[in-house]
Amino acid sequence: MAGARDPYVKLLLDAMEHSGCAVNRERHFSCEDCSGNVSGGFDASASQIVLCQNNIRNQAHMSRVVTHELIHAFDHCRAHVDWFTNVRHLACSEVRAANLSGDCSLVNEIFRLHFGLKQHHQTCVRDRAILSILAVRNISKEVARKAVDEVFESCFNDHEPFGRIPHNKTYARYAHRDFQNRDRYYSNI
Ligand SMILES: [Zn+2]
Repeated sequence: MAGARDPYVKLLLDAMEHSGCAVNRERHFSCEDCSGNVSGGFDASASQIVLCQNNIRNQAHMSRVVTHELIHAFDHCRAHVDWFTNVRHLACSEVRAANLSGDCSLVNEIFRLHFGLKQHHQTCVRDRAILSILAVRNISKEVARKAVDEVFESCFNDHEPFGRIPHNKTYARYAHRDFQNRDRYYSNI
């Protein structure tokens, strides 16, 4: 499995299995050449994650793309997401993917160290979610921004299945450990 040793990916694969949507490498992943600079996508109709082999630069990038798309797959599994007609559903999942995948955390760490800007993470998540929507929907930036604004508060604060914002691999490892323990308590009831 691509990036299977990465703690973000590990946790999401466990969470998918726990939710009854176990991920199968052959069936749920597709490596393709993609146009533009798109690095991945989630095909909801086929429940398949597309990895853009021509645009993914290295192993770390691969892990981040797999994580981002697995968050969409997780949302697809746990809720009846109306990806195609309800832009707010898409916006919510994009906010969660940007917030929890580490897409914004690397930059955030650098900014925090150098400038101490606490709001940077939220700004980054908002901007990335808008760009992700615009990459897959033929709508104006204003419509995309409005959808993100409407869902931001609740979706930014929904950290499932991580239980926290995993700002780096150490946080992600803790989150994975907590998730496994959570599972253990449930199974002992
Ligand atoms: Zn996305």
